[in-house]
Amino acid sequence: MDEEGRPLRVAVIGAGMAGILSAIKLIEAGLTDFTVYEKGDRVGGTWRENTYPGLSCDVPSHLYSYSFALSPDWSRRFAPGEEIEAYFERVAAEHGVVERTRFGDAVVRAELIDGRWHLTTASGHQDEADIVIAATGVLHHPRYPDIPGLDAFDGALFHSARWDHSVPLEGARVGVIGTGSTAVQITSAIVDRVARLSLFQRTAQWVMPQENPAYTVEERAAFREDPGKLAELHQTLADMFDVFANAVVDTEAPELRMIEQACLDNLEQNVRDPVLRERLRPTYRAACKRLIISPDFYDAIQRPNAELVTAGIERVESRGVCTKDGRRHDLDVLVLATGFHADAFMRPMEIVGRGGTTLEQTWDPRPEAYLSISIPDFPNLFMLNGPNGPVGNFSLIEVAELQLGYILQLVERVRRGECRELCASAEALAEFERAREEAARHTVWVTGCQSWYLDDRGLPAVWPWPFRQFRERMAAPDLAAYELT
Ligand SMILES: Cc1cc2nc3c(=O)[nH]c(=O)nc-3n(C[C@H](O)[C@H](O)[C@H](O)COP(=O)(O)OP(=O)(O)OC[C@H]3O[C@@H](n4cnc5c(N)ncnc54)[C@H](O)[C@@H]3O)c2cc1C
Repeated sequence: MDEEGRPLRVAVIGAGMAGILSAIKLIEAGLTDFTVYEKGDRVGGTWRENTYPGLSCDVPSHLYSYSFALSPDWSRRFAPGEEIEAYFERVAAEHGVVERTRFGDAVVRAELIDGRWHLTTASGHQDEADIVIAATGVLHHPRYPDIPGLDAFDGALFHSARWDHSVPLEGARVGVIGTGSTAVQITSAIVDRVARLSLFQRTAQWVMPQENPAYTVEERAAFREDPGKLAELHQTLADMFDVFANAVVDTEAPELRMIEQACLDNLEQNVRDPVLRERLRPTYRAACKRLIISPDFYDAIQRPNAELVTAGIERVESRGVCTKDGRRHDLDVLVLATGFHADAFMRPMEIVGRGGTTLEQTWDPRPEAYLSISIPDFPNLFMLNGPNGPVGNFSLIEVAELQLGYILQLVERVRRGECRELCASAEALAEFERAREEAARHTVWVTGCQSWYLDDRGLPAVWPWPFRQFRERMAAPDLAAYELT
């Protein structure tokens, strides 16, 4: 209840994995006066927007699942994107999230007026909420490369997150710019369909070979009959990924060396041509950039119709891509697998906090939030998968579940009337950032590569401590770090 005896009203922005989770947990907590705002036409976020060939999870699906909605039905170890999207749609429908979601309308503005958030959507709809949960995603706003002449290309041109399925690939000459997980997945998926595939590589990647076996009918039946087995598998995988999450924050960790060796063996044993092998050999440590998980990328790039182009792109012309060695690569389709603006978070939403402070001002030059959840002067506004949180080769679902558990404990303070507003203090954020930056200097992410983990100073904008520490911090909020009014 608020001061006037009304039940707390909550607005959740975004109906991806984190927004669906928020709605389910709000209902469970008895906070039923809420609306989820989703600018898309259905739930699913990342998995609704990315439909490119070969899209799959790169953490095992039995780990990339809500802990309260484990599924016996995953078809493979790393399920394809459309199966993941269907999973989120099913869970959202089963938990009554869909009917509480206002689709097709983006929240464009949120302003704190007299202790309540006043929201405005693109269609002009207005709402007021005591609490806002921003579940607006991290890898959400496509990043387009700044290559001269891109507009002049006469063929089909699209970002991997905006795949144009009306464009036929059969018999086409296709160029893919980028060598992250997405580019690698696309390459493996389409190489046998296209006439020619040119992969434009700026930086070679470490590739971890992981088979992607299908679950048999019997295995799935066994999971269905004994949910204990599912829970056990989820836990085993979580423990395995903890080891990885701990290794990347300790450059001397033996596990990191083992991963590097596995990637190296993959390169040495599976790339036949010594010249190609050298062009595919990274010059930085494994896991400095997000590790690529693929059982068949090296196989795909060695097909006779595939070419790894490393000369560097000079410009794009109407007929294709010109590289710095003076060659033109004639193409019918050009795919930009060039990633996302990973530092946008809630933006471009206009957010105005206490005393007219805007988020844009507060986040200049870079986004910061206490424990990646709360921002001083923006009370009762909480983020899931916000700035500087744990990202990497592990399940963001577990991260969001831990964060939401923490946020709901804060919301409970407001519900019980202990305060009307709460947000992290400026001192707590400054101290958190100081410690985070110091720890970040000792992680694998600063061992000599460029990646989307790095901020404008070249410091990793991620959680730099072992995952165990994240769990501990999320278990219960330290109220001394908060201003309660
Ligand atoms: C290609 C790809 C592969 C990935 N693979 C993995 C993986 O293997 N493992 C893993 O853990 N993570 C992976 N991720 C990260 C993935 O984004 C997260 O796991 C997860 O889906 C994020 O969920 P989310 O709800 O936080 O954000 P999103 O899924 O991005 O959802 C955010 C939602 O908010 C909506 N929204 C945003 N702004 C507004 C607004 N102003 N008003 C209304 N609605 C708004 C968006 O339309 C969207 O539906 C991958 C990401 C990509 C792009």
